Amino acid sequence: MEEVDCVVAGAGVVGLAVARALALRGREVLVLDAAEGIGTETSSRNSEVIHAGIYYPAGSRMARHCVAGKRMLYAYCAERGLPHANCGKLIVATDEEEAGKLVSIQARAAANGVPDLALLSRTEALALEPALHCTAALLSPSTGIIDSHAYMLSLQGDAENAGATFVFHAPVTAGRASDSGIEIQVGGEEPLALRCRIFVNSAGLHAPRLARAIAGMPRQLIPEAYFAKGNYFTLTGKNPFSRLIYPVPVPGGLGTHLTIDLGGQARFGPDVEWVETLDYEVDHRRGESFYAAIRRYWPGLQDGALAPGYSGIRPKIVPPGAPGQDFTPSGPRDHGIPGLLHLFGIESPGLTASLSLAEEAVELLAA
Ligand SMILES: Cc1cc2nc3c(=O)[nH]c(=O)nc-3n(C[C@H](O)[C@H](O)[C@H](O)COP(=O)(O)OP(=O)(O)OC[C@H]3O[C@@H](n4cnc5c(N)ncnc54)[C@H](O)[C@@H]3O)c2cc1C
Repeated sequence: MEEVDCVVAGAGVVGLAVARALALRGREVLVLDAAEGIGTETSSRNSEVIHAGIYYPAGSRMARHCVAGKRMLYAYCAERGLPHANCGKLIVATDEEEAGKLVSIQARAAANGVPDLALLSRTEALALEPALHCTAALLSPSTGIIDSHAYMLSLQGDAENAGATFVFHAPVTAGRASDSGIEIQVGGEEPLALRCRIFVNSAGLHAPRLARAIAGMPRQLIPEAYFAKGNYFTLTGKNPFSRLIYPVPVPGGLGTHLTIDLGGQARFGPDVEWVETLDYEVDHRRGESFYAAIRRYWPGLQDGALAPGYSGIRPKIVPPGAPGQDFTPSGPRDHGIPGLLHLFGIESPGLTASLSLAEEAVELLAA
């Protein structure tokens, strides 16, 4: 059987960051992905926002990795000249009750290590974004946007320069933990069996299923997978905003918000639609409810201005209605198998957090 030091299954943004981190430490790394290239699933179906780290529960992995990952990501983008913009974001209140909530959002952000949110009056907010309707707003200066594909290519390049190898059309179909390492079966056109000392399951939506395919992994430690689709609708006309615009969050979600890409094009969403299968088609009828929600903060939205865009699917590990989930790595300390790490529940802000998550992955594997 062929031997390799480390195998990373999944070349999304997180698997790429982990592969890079391992390769930069001098490890021999093989990255296997079931698809034809890097980042074809959730990593290319998101909002491309560099999140500040505002809403996550204090002390959660999401809070910690978002704040640390954001700093690392801005520094990395600057060093590599990667396309990104520190455009900022406004969280807007449209009545007095919502205005009251801005203060608690500001306090939660500060507790997470995001002390720079500024409370703005209506006049101050409109001076920044004249098309807006609001009674007050919070400005998050550290929020930004990134070209996630340029970022992923750069991570792949770093990993390859440090000696990592990538193989595509190479799904990991099964595995077995043994005393001499982790044996894995790779499907595709040229099936093969490999033995490795480190195996990282970074299969995103498929991570729980892949974990179940590894003999020796305690079943009770593998979470159920649930899929929460997020649909986007794009603005067909001119976008009057230069910052990201978010309403005050509603229970269970961030509300219908506006994000922009680096070309300045605006899109709204993602909404939340629980699904059983990985179907990315956007049902145009879901756009109807977007209009009223958007007009609360942008009354100027014209009828018919929204077109179905794209969708992404959140890799949930808690069922609908259950309290929010956290990033849930499961490493040797959790399941007792040396060299095996599963990355469960890496939903938003996984892109922002990727470099910091990769550091924790390396630490967990060393334990
Ligand atoms: C709608 C939406 C919006 C989001 N917006 C943001 C945002 O604005 N900012 C932010 O920070 N985060 C955001 N996120 C979160 C972010 O996109 C994800 O956390 C991140 O992309 C997850 O990356 P990943 O590498 O874990 O998974 P993925 O990108 O899904 O990669 C998994 C890879 O594993 C491969 N794979 C699967 N099974 C196997 C197997 N058996 N063998 C080999 N390979 C396999 C797949 O082909 C895929 O390439 C958003 C997520 C969603 C759903």
